[in-house]
Amino acid sequence: MTRSQSSERFDLAVVGAGVVGLATALAATRRGLRTIVIDRDAQANGASVRNFGFVTVTGQERGAMWHRARRSREVWREVADAADIPIIHTGLWMMARRPESVEVLEAFMATEMAVGCRLLSPAEARRRCPRLPAPGLAAVLESTIELRVESYTAIPRLAAWLVSEHDVTFMRNTAVTGIDLPSIHTSRGCVRAERVAVCPGDDLSGLYPERLGAYALTRCKLQMLRLADPGFRLPSALMSDLGLGRYRGYADLEAATPLKARLAVEQPEHLKHGVHLIVVQSADGSLIVGDSHHYAATPDPFSHQYVDALILDEFSTALGIEPPPTIERWSGTYASATDRAIVIDAPESAVRVAIVTCGAGASIGFALGEELVTSLFDSGVAA
Ligand SMILES: Cc1cc2nc3c(=O)[nH]c(=O)nc-3n(C[C@H](O)[C@H](O)[C@H](O)COP(=O)(O)OP(=O)(O)OC[C@H]3O[C@@H](n4cnc5c(N)ncnc54)[C@H](O)[C@@H]3O)c2cc1C
Repeated sequence: MTRSQSSERFDLAVVGAGVVGLATALAATRRGLRTIVIDRDAQANGASVRNFGFVTVTGQERGAMWHRARRSREVWREVADAADIPIIHTGLWMMARRPESVEVLEAFMATEMAVGCRLLSPAEARRRCPRLPAPGLAAVLESTIELRVESYTAIPRLAAWLVSEHDVTFMRNTAVTGIDLPSIHTSRGCVRAERVAVCPGDDLSGLYPERLGAYALTRCKLQMLRLADPGFRLPSALMSDLGLGRYRGYADLEAATPLKARLAVEQPEHLKHGVHLIVVQSADGSLIVGDSHHYAATPDPFSHQYVDALILDEFSTALGIEPPPTIERWSGTYASATDRAIVIDAPESAVRVAIVTCGAGASIGFALGEELVTSLFDSGVAA
Protein backbone atom coordinates (compact mmCIF):
# COMPACT_ATOMS: atom_id res chain seq x y z
CA MET A 1 0.00 0.00 0.00
CA THR A 2 1.30 3.43 -0.85
CA ARG A 3 1.41 6.20 1.73
CA SER A 4 -1.40 8.08 -0.07
CA GLN A 5 -3.67 5.01 0.07
CA SER A 6 -3.15 4.57 3.79
CA SER A 7 -3.81 8.23 4.59
CA GLU A 8 -6.49 8.97 1.98
CA ARG A 9 -10.13 8.60 2.94
CA PHE A 10 -12.21 7.22 0.08
CA ASP A 11 -15.92 7.79 -0.43
CA LEU A 12 -16.37 4.15 -1.33
CA ALA A 13 -14.32 1.00 -0.90
CA VAL A 14 -15.34 -1.94 -3.07
CA VAL A 15 -14.27 -5.40 -1.96
CA GLY A 16 -13.87 -7.69 -4.98
CA ALA A 17 -12.68 -6.88 -8.49
CA GLY A 18 -15.00 -9.23 -10.38
CA VAL A 19 -17.59 -7.81 -12.73
CA VAL A 20 -19.92 -6.83 -9.88
CA GLY A 21 -17.19 -4.96 -8.00
CA LEU A 22 -15.96 -3.20 -11.15
CA ALA A 23 -19.53 -2.28 -12.11
CA THR A 24 -20.05 -0.80 -8.66
CA ALA A 25 -16.82 1.18 -8.95
CA LEU A 26 -17.97 2.52 -12.33
CA ALA A 27 -21.35 3.59 -10.96
CA ALA A 28 -19.59 5.34 -8.06
CA THR A 29 -17.11 7.21 -10.23
CA ARG A 30 -19.88 8.31 -12.56
CA ARG A 31 -21.21 10.16 -9.49
CA GLY A 32 -17.81 11.65 -8.81
CA LEU A 33 -17.08 9.46 -5.77
CA ARG A 34 -13.47 8.67 -4.85
CA THR A 35 -13.30 4.91 -5.06
CA ILE A 36 -10.89 2.14 -4.14
CA VAL A 37 -11.26 -1.50 -5.23
CA ILE A 38 -9.56 -4.15 -3.10
CA ASP A 39 -9.08 -7.76 -4.23
CA ARG A 40 -7.11 -10.59 -2.71
CA ASP A 41 -5.95 -11.89 -6.09
CA ALA A 42 -3.14 -10.45 -8.18
CA GLN A 43 -5.40 -10.52 -11.23
CA ALA A 44 -9.02 -11.43 -11.88
CA ASN A 45 -9.45 -15.15 -11.32
CA GLY A 46 -13.07 -15.70 -10.25
CA ALA A 47 -16.27 -16.44 -12.13
CA SER A 48 -16.01 -13.15 -14.02
CA VAL A 49 -13.10 -14.40 -16.15
CA ARG A 50 -14.20 -18.06 -16.37
CA ASN A 51 -17.58 -17.42 -17.96
CA PHE A 52 -18.81 -17.26 -21.56
CA GLY A 53 -18.72 -13.48 -21.58
CA PHE A 54 -22.28 -13.81 -22.77
CA VAL A 55 -24.32 -10.73 -21.87
CA THR A 56 -27.81 -12.18 -22.07
CA VAL A 57 -31.12 -10.40 -21.91
CA THR A 58 -33.41 -12.88 -23.65
CA GLY A 59 -34.28 -15.66 -21.22
CA GLN A 60 -33.55 -13.74 -18.01
CA GLU A 61 -36.21 -14.10 -15.34
CA ARG A 62 -39.21 -11.91 -16.13
CA GLY A 63 -39.42 -8.63 -14.20
CA ALA A 64 -36.51 -7.15 -12.25
CA MET A 65 -33.79 -9.43 -13.65
CA TRP A 66 -34.83 -8.85 -17.24
CA HIS A 67 -34.80 -5.07 -16.63
CA ARG A 68 -31.40 -5.30 -14.95
CA ALA A 69 -30.08 -7.21 -17.96
CA ARG A 70 -31.37 -4.59 -20.38
CA ARG A 71 -29.76 -1.79 -18.40
CA SER A 72 -26.49 -3.72 -18.04
CA ARG A 73 -26.36 -4.46 -21.72
CA GLU A 74 -26.65 -0.71 -22.38
CA VAL A 75 -23.73 -0.01 -20.05
CA TRP A 76 -21.65 -2.84 -21.60
CA ARG A 77 -22.11 -1.12 -24.98
CA GLU A 78 -20.90 2.22 -23.61
CA VAL A 79 -18.02 0.66 -21.72
CA ALA A 80 -16.94 -1.56 -24.61
CA ASP A 81 -16.56 1.47 -26.86
CA ALA A 82 -14.82 3.58 -24.24
CA ALA A 83 -12.50 0.91 -22.81
CA ASP A 84 -11.65 -0.69 -26.15
CA ILE A 85 -13.29 -4.01 -25.28
CA PRO A 86 -14.18 -5.83 -28.50
CA ILE A 87 -17.73 -7.12 -28.87
CA ILE A 88 -16.85 -10.45 -30.46
CA HIS A 89 -20.35 -11.17 -31.69
CA THR A 90 -23.94 -10.19 -31.01
CA GLY A 91 -27.30 -11.92 -30.73
CA LEU A 92 -28.61 -15.34 -29.80
CA TRP A 93 -30.09 -18.25 -31.69
CA MET A 94 -32.25 -20.39 -29.47
CA MET A 95 -32.44 -23.54 -31.60
CA ALA A 96 -35.60 -25.56 -30.91
CA ARG A 97 -35.90 -29.13 -32.15
CA ARG A 98 -39.05 -30.37 -30.36
CA PRO A 99 -42.64 -29.24 -31.00
CA GLU A 100 -42.91 -28.51 -27.26
CA SER A 101 -39.92 -26.17 -27.59
CA VAL A 102 -41.55 -24.33 -30.47
CA GLU A 103 -44.58 -23.80 -28.23
CA VAL A 104 -42.30 -22.19 -25.65
CA LEU A 105 -40.79 -19.92 -28.28
CA GLU A 106 -44.22 -18.90 -29.52
CA ALA A 107 -45.38 -18.17 -25.98
CA PHE A 108 -42.22 -16.17 -25.36
CA MET A 109 -42.83 -14.13 -28.52
CA ALA A 110 -46.20 -13.08 -27.07
CA THR A 111 -44.54 -11.52 -24.00
CA GLU A 112 -42.99 -8.10 -23.49
CA MET A 113 -39.61 -9.89 -23.30
CA ALA A 114 -39.62 -10.55 -27.05
CA VAL A 115 -38.26 -7.09 -27.95
CA GLY A 116 -35.53 -7.54 -30.52
CA CYS A 117 -36.58 -11.16 -31.18
CA ARG A 118 -38.20 -12.99 -34.07
CA LEU A 119 -38.79 -16.58 -35.10
CA LEU A 120 -36.84 -18.08 -37.99
CA SER A 121 -37.93 -21.13 -39.94
CA PRO A 122 -35.41 -23.96 -40.29
CA ALA A 123 -35.00 -23.08 -43.97
CA GLU A 124 -34.22 -19.46 -43.17
CA ALA A 125 -31.77 -20.46 -40.45
CA ARG A 126 -29.96 -22.85 -42.82
CA ARG A 127 -29.83 -20.18 -45.50
CA ARG A 128 -28.26 -17.80 -42.99
CA CYS A 129 -25.75 -20.38 -41.80
CA PRO A 130 -25.41 -23.31 -44.23
CA ARG A 131 -22.55 -24.77 -42.17
CA LEU A 132 -25.01 -25.56 -39.33
CA PRO A 133 -27.10 -28.47 -40.66
CA ALA A 134 -29.03 -28.83 -37.35
CA PRO A 135 -30.96 -31.85 -38.68
CA GLY A 136 -33.84 -31.83 -36.19
CA LEU A 137 -34.34 -28.07 -36.23
CA ALA A 138 -37.98 -27.01 -35.86
CA ALA A 139 -37.58 -23.24 -35.27
CA VAL A 140 -35.07 -20.65 -34.08
CA LEU A 141 -35.74 -17.75 -31.77
CA GLU A 142 -33.36 -15.08 -32.98
CA SER A 143 -32.53 -12.25 -30.62
CA THR A 144 -30.39 -9.37 -31.78
CA ILE A 145 -29.78 -7.98 -28.31
CA GLU A 146 -27.12 -10.17 -26.73
CA LEU A 147 -23.42 -9.24 -26.67
CA ARG A 148 -20.38 -11.41 -26.28
CA VAL A 149 -17.09 -10.22 -24.83
CA GLU A 150 -13.93 -12.22 -24.15
CA SER A 151 -14.07 -12.04 -20.38
CA TYR A 152 -10.49 -13.06 -19.78
CA THR A 153 -9.29 -9.89 -21.48
CA ALA A 154 -12.41 -7.72 -21.08
CA ILE A 155 -12.36 -7.68 -17.27
CA PRO A 156 -8.68 -6.55 -17.03
CA ARG A 157 -9.37 -3.90 -19.69
CA LEU A 158 -12.36 -2.66 -17.75
CA ALA A 159 -10.24 -2.42 -14.60
CA ALA A 160 -7.40 -0.63 -16.43
CA TRP A 161 -9.88 1.85 -17.91
CA LEU A 162 -11.34 2.55 -14.45
CA VAL A 163 -7.82 3.49 -13.36
CA SER A 164 -6.86 5.56 -16.40
CA GLU A 165 -10.15 7.32 -17.12
CA HIS A 166 -11.92 7.36 -13.76
CA ASP A 167 -9.04 7.56 -11.32
CA VAL A 168 -10.15 4.47 -9.39
CA THR A 169 -7.47 3.12 -7.03
CA PHE A 170 -6.84 -0.64 -7.02
CA MET A 171 -5.22 -2.66 -4.24
CA ARG A 172 -4.56 -6.18 -5.44
CA ASN A 173 -3.02 -9.11 -3.58
CA THR A 174 -4.92 -7.76 -0.60
CA ALA A 175 -7.55 -9.63 1.41
CA VAL A 176 -10.09 -7.64 3.37
CA THR A 177 -10.29 -9.24 6.79
CA GLY A 178 -12.73 -6.98 8.62
CA ILE A 179 -14.76 -3.79 8.35
CA ASP A 180 -15.07 -1.34 11.21
CA LEU A 181 -15.91 1.93 9.48
CA PRO A 182 -14.23 4.13 8.61
CA SER A 183 -11.50 1.46 8.89
CA ILE A 184 -11.26 -1.44 6.51
CA HIS A 185 -8.77 -3.98 7.75
CA THR A 186 -6.77 -5.74 5.09
CA SER A 187 -3.84 -8.13 4.86
CA ARG A 188 -1.76 -5.07 3.88
CA GLY A 189 -2.90 -2.52 6.41
CA CYS A 190 -5.86 -0.29 7.02
CA VAL A 191 -7.83 1.56 4.34
CA ARG A 192 -10.27 4.32 5.26
CA ALA A 193 -13.58 4.85 3.49
CA GLU A 194 -17.02 6.29 4.21
CA ARG A 195 -18.92 3.35 2.75
CA VAL A 196 -18.24 -0.15 1.56
CA ALA A 197 -19.68 -2.42 -1.12
CA VAL A 198 -18.68 -6.04 -0.56
CA CYS A 199 -18.86 -7.98 -3.86
CA PRO A 200 -17.21 -11.26 -2.85
CA GLY A 201 -18.51 -13.60 -5.55
CA ASP A 202 -18.80 -17.06 -4.05
CA ASP A 203 -16.70 -16.38 -0.94
CA LEU A 204 -19.50 -16.90 1.57
CA SER A 205 -17.35 -17.32 4.66
CA GLY A 206 -14.95 -14.36 4.57
CA LEU A 207 -16.88 -11.20 5.42
CA TYR A 208 -20.22 -11.19 7.26
CA PRO A 209 -20.56 -15.00 7.27
CA GLU A 210 -23.25 -14.78 9.96
CA ARG A 211 -25.33 -12.49 7.74
CA LEU A 212 -24.83 -14.62 4.65
CA GLY A 213 -25.63 -17.72 6.73
CA ALA A 214 -29.20 -16.45 6.98
CA TYR A 215 -29.65 -17.01 3.23
CA ALA A 216 -29.84 -20.49 1.74
CA LEU A 217 -26.63 -20.09 -0.26
CA THR A 218 -24.42 -22.74 -1.75
CA ARG A 219 -21.94 -22.90 -4.61
CA CYS A 220 -22.37 -24.15 -8.14
CA LYS A 221 -19.57 -25.65 -10.23
CA LEU A 222 -19.66 -25.45 -14.04
CA GLN A 223 -17.54 -27.38 -16.55
CA MET A 224 -16.44 -25.50 -19.65
CA LEU A 225 -14.66 -26.45 -22.89
CA ARG A 226 -12.89 -24.58 -25.63
CA LEU A 227 -13.12 -26.30 -29.01
CA ALA A 228 -10.94 -25.59 -32.04
CA ASP A 229 -12.21 -23.26 -34.79
CA PRO A 230 -14.87 -25.20 -36.73
CA GLY A 231 -13.85 -23.30 -39.88
CA PHE A 232 -16.86 -21.02 -40.09
CA ARG A 233 -18.43 -18.12 -38.19
CA LEU A 234 -21.44 -18.69 -35.98
CA PRO A 235 -24.38 -16.40 -36.71
CA SER A 236 -24.57 -15.56 -32.98
CA ALA A 237 -24.42 -17.36 -29.64
CA LEU A 238 -26.27 -20.69 -29.82
CA MET A 239 -28.47 -22.48 -27.31
CA SER A 240 -30.79 -25.49 -27.50
CA ASP A 241 -33.94 -27.06 -26.00
CA LEU A 242 -32.19 -27.70 -22.69
CA GLY A 243 -31.80 -23.95 -22.19
CA LEU A 244 -35.52 -23.45 -22.72
CA GLY A 245 -36.14 -25.78 -19.82
CA ARG A 246 -33.64 -24.01 -17.61
CA TYR A 247 -33.58 -20.23 -18.15
CA ARG A 248 -36.42 -18.71 -16.23
CA GLY A 249 -37.56 -16.24 -18.88
CA TYR A 250 -38.67 -19.28 -20.89
CA ALA A 251 -38.90 -22.00 -18.25
CA ASP A 252 -41.33 -20.09 -16.03
CA LEU A 253 -43.86 -19.75 -18.88
CA GLU A 254 -46.79 -22.09 -18.58
CA ALA A 255 -46.06 -23.31 -22.11
CA ALA A 256 -42.76 -24.78 -20.84
CA THR A 257 -44.43 -27.46 -18.71
CA PRO A 258 -44.79 -30.07 -21.50
CA LEU A 259 -41.22 -29.44 -22.66
CA LYS A 260 -39.81 -29.91 -19.16
CA ALA A 261 -41.75 -33.17 -18.82
CA ARG A 262 -40.41 -34.41 -22.14
CA LEU A 263 -36.82 -33.44 -21.32
CA ALA A 264 -37.09 -35.32 -18.02
CA VAL A 265 -37.95 -38.48 -19.96
CA GLU A 266 -35.61 -38.05 -22.92
CA GLN A 267 -32.51 -36.41 -21.40
CA PRO A 268 -32.42 -37.41 -17.73
CA GLU A 269 -28.62 -37.59 -17.58
CA HIS A 270 -28.25 -34.09 -19.00
CA LEU A 271 -30.73 -32.80 -16.42
CA LYS A 272 -29.07 -34.73 -13.59
CA HIS A 273 -25.79 -32.96 -14.30
CA GLY A 274 -27.43 -29.61 -15.02
CA VAL A 275 -26.16 -29.72 -18.61
CA HIS A 276 -27.48 -27.26 -21.12
CA LEU A 277 -25.85 -25.86 -24.20
CA ILE A 278 -24.29 -22.47 -24.77
CA VAL A 279 -21.88 -22.03 -27.68
CA VAL A 280 -20.07 -18.75 -28.27
CA GLN A 281 -17.16 -17.93 -30.55
CA SER A 282 -13.88 -16.16 -29.91
CA ALA A 283 -12.00 -13.82 -32.22
CA ASP A 284 -9.68 -16.67 -33.32
CA GLY A 285 -12.70 -18.77 -34.32
CA SER A 286 -12.47 -21.18 -31.38
CA LEU A 287 -15.70 -22.03 -29.58
CA ILE A 288 -16.45 -21.81 -25.88
CA VAL A 289 -18.93 -24.55 -25.10
CA GLY A 290 -20.67 -25.43 -21.86
CA ASP A 291 -21.96 -26.05 -19.36
CA SER A 292 -22.95 -28.20 -16.37
CA HIS A 293 -24.20 -27.37 -12.86
CA HIS A 294 -23.19 -29.27 -9.71
CA TYR A 295 -24.06 -27.84 -6.29
CA ALA A 296 -22.11 -28.15 -3.03
CA ALA A 297 -20.69 -25.93 -0.29
CA THR A 298 -17.27 -26.92 -1.64
CA PRO A 299 -17.64 -28.50 -5.09
CA ASP A 300 -14.99 -31.00 -6.15
CA PRO A 301 -12.21 -29.47 -8.25
CA PHE A 302 -12.27 -32.01 -11.08
CA SER A 303 -13.60 -31.81 -14.62
CA HIS A 304 -15.34 -35.10 -15.32
CA GLN A 305 -15.05 -36.66 -18.77
CA TYR A 306 -18.57 -38.04 -18.52
CA VAL A 307 -20.01 -34.55 -18.01
CA ASP A 308 -17.95 -33.13 -20.89
CA ALA A 309 -19.32 -35.94 -23.06
CA LEU A 310 -22.89 -34.95 -22.17
CA ILE A 311 -22.18 -31.33 -23.16
CA LEU A 312 -20.63 -32.44 -26.45
CA ASP A 313 -23.50 -34.83 -27.09
CA GLU A 314 -25.94 -31.91 -26.90
CA PHE A 315 -23.59 -29.88 -29.12
CA SER A 316 -23.63 -32.44 -31.94
CA THR A 317 -27.34 -33.22 -31.60
CA ALA A 318 -28.38 -29.56 -31.71
CA LEU A 319 -25.89 -28.28 -34.30
CA GLY A 320 -25.58 -31.41 -36.43
CA ILE A 321 -21.78 -31.19 -36.64
CA GLU A 322 -19.02 -33.20 -35.00
CA PRO A 323 -17.44 -31.22 -32.16
CA PRO A 324 -14.00 -29.91 -33.20
CA PRO A 325 -11.10 -31.05 -30.97
CA THR A 326 -11.17 -29.82 -27.37
CA ILE A 327 -8.23 -27.49 -26.77
CA GLU A 328 -8.94 -26.25 -23.21
CA ARG A 329 -11.00 -27.36 -20.21
CA TRP A 330 -11.71 -25.44 -17.04
CA SER A 331 -14.32 -25.11 -14.37
CA GLY A 332 -15.70 -22.16 -12.48
CA THR A 333 -17.94 -21.64 -9.49
CA TYR A 334 -20.52 -19.09 -8.50
CA ALA A 335 -22.76 -18.54 -5.50
CA SER A 336 -26.17 -20.08 -5.89
CA ALA A 337 -29.59 -19.95 -4.25
CA THR A 338 -32.85 -21.56 -5.27
CA ASP A 339 -35.07 -18.86 -3.80
CA ARG A 340 -33.50 -15.66 -5.16
CA ALA A 341 -31.46 -14.36 -8.09
CA ILE A 342 -29.41 -11.86 -6.09
CA VAL A 343 -28.61 -11.05 -2.48
CA ILE A 344 -28.26 -7.43 -1.40
CA ASP A 345 -27.69 -7.38 2.32
CA ALA A 346 -27.08 -4.39 4.62
CA PRO A 347 -25.08 -5.66 7.60
CA GLU A 348 -24.44 -2.05 8.61
CA SER A 349 -26.02 1.19 7.43
CA ALA A 350 -22.95 2.14 5.37
CA VAL A 351 -22.15 -1.37 4.08
CA ARG A 352 -23.82 -3.46 1.39
CA VAL A 353 -23.01 -7.04 0.43
CA ALA A 354 -24.04 -7.99 -3.11
CA ILE A 355 -23.99 -11.48 -4.54
CA VAL A 356 -25.48 -12.74 -7.80
CA THR A 357 -26.91 -16.16 -7.00
CA CYS A 358 -28.17 -17.29 -10.41
CA GLY A 359 -25.11 -17.30 -12.64
CA ALA A 360 -25.96 -14.11 -14.51
CA GLY A 361 -23.47 -11.60 -13.12
CA ALA A 362 -21.97 -10.70 -16.51
CA SER A 363 -25.49 -9.94 -17.73
CA ILE A 364 -26.88 -7.93 -14.83
CA GLY A 365 -23.75 -6.68 -13.01
CA PHE A 366 -23.80 -3.08 -14.22
CA ALA A 367 -27.38 -2.55 -13.11
CA LEU A 368 -26.62 -4.16 -9.77
CA GLY A 369 -23.63 -1.84 -9.30
CA GLU A 370 -25.88 1.17 -9.88
CA GLU A 371 -28.42 -0.17 -7.37
CA LEU A 372 -25.72 -0.63 -4.75
CA VAL A 373 -24.39 2.88 -5.13
CA THR A 374 -27.92 4.32 -5.00
CA SER A 375 -28.68 2.30 -1.91
CA LEU A 376 -25.46 3.40 -0.18
CA PHE A 377 -25.48 7.07 -1.13
CA ASP A 378 -29.13 8.03 -1.61
CA SER A 379 -30.72 6.49 1.44
CA GLY A 380 -29.31 8.81 4.05
CA VAL A 381 -26.92 6.28 5.61
CA ALA A 382 -24.20 7.52 7.92
CA ALA A 383 -20.72 6.04 8.27
C1 LIG B 1 -18.25 -21.11 -15.91
C2 LIG B 1 -19.16 -19.93 -15.73
C3 LIG B 1 -19.87 -19.45 -16.82
C4 LIG B 1 -20.73 -18.34 -16.65
N1 LIG B 1 -21.29 -17.77 -17.75
C5 LIG B 1 -21.95 -16.59 -17.62
C6 LIG B 1 -22.38 -15.89 -18.76
O1 LIG B 1 -22.10 -16.26 -19.89
N2 LIG B 1 -23.14 -14.76 -18.58
C7 LIG B 1 -23.41 -14.28 -17.35
O2 LIG B 1 -24.09 -13.28 -17.22
N3 LIG B 1 -22.91 -14.88 -16.24
C8 LIG B 1 -22.19 -16.01 -16.36
N4 LIG B 1 -21.68 -16.63 -15.25
C9 LIG B 1 -21.91 -16.01 -13.94
C10 LIG B 1 -21.00 -14.81 -13.75
O3 LIG B 1 -19.69 -15.08 -14.23
C11 LIG B 1 -20.98 -14.44 -12.26
O4 LIG B 1 -22.32 -14.22 -11.82
C12 LIG B 1 -20.16 -13.18 -12.02
O5 LIG B 1 -18.89 -13.29 -12.60
C13 LIG B 1 -20.03 -12.90 -10.54
O6 LIG B 1 -19.21 -11.76 -10.42
P1 LIG B 1 -18.64 -11.32 -9.02
O7 LIG B 1 -17.90 -10.06 -9.25
O8 LIG B 1 -19.75 -11.32 -8.04
O9 LIG B 1 -17.70 -12.52 -8.57
P2 LIG B 1 -16.20 -12.90 -8.93
O10 LIG B 1 -15.90 -12.72 -10.35
O11 LIG B 1 -15.99 -14.27 -8.36
O12 LIG B 1 -15.32 -11.86 -8.14
C14 LIG B 1 -15.31 -11.80 -6.73
C15 LIG B 1 -13.98 -11.23 -6.31
O13 LIG B 1 -14.01 -10.95 -4.93
C16 LIG B 1 -12.73 -11.19 -4.41
N5 LIG B 1 -12.88 -11.34 -2.95
C17 LIG B 1 -13.79 -12.10 -2.28
N6 LIG B 1 -13.66 -11.93 -0.96
C18 LIG B 1 -12.63 -11.05 -0.77
C19 LIG B 1 -12.01 -10.49 0.37
N7 LIG B 1 -12.41 -10.77 1.61
N8 LIG B 1 -10.97 -9.62 0.18
C20 LIG B 1 -10.56 -9.32 -1.06
N9 LIG B 1 -11.11 -9.82 -2.19
C21 LIG B 1 -12.14 -10.67 -2.04
C22 LIG B 1 -12.28 -12.43 -5.13
O14 LIG B 1 -10.87 -12.55 -5.11
C23 LIG B 1 -12.83 -12.18 -6.53
O15 LIG B 1 -11.87 -11.57 -7.38
C24 LIG B 1 -20.87 -17.75 -15.37
C25 LIG B 1 -20.14 -18.26 -14.29
C26 LIG B 1 -19.29 -19.32 -14.46
C27 LIG B 1 -18.52 -19.84 -13.28
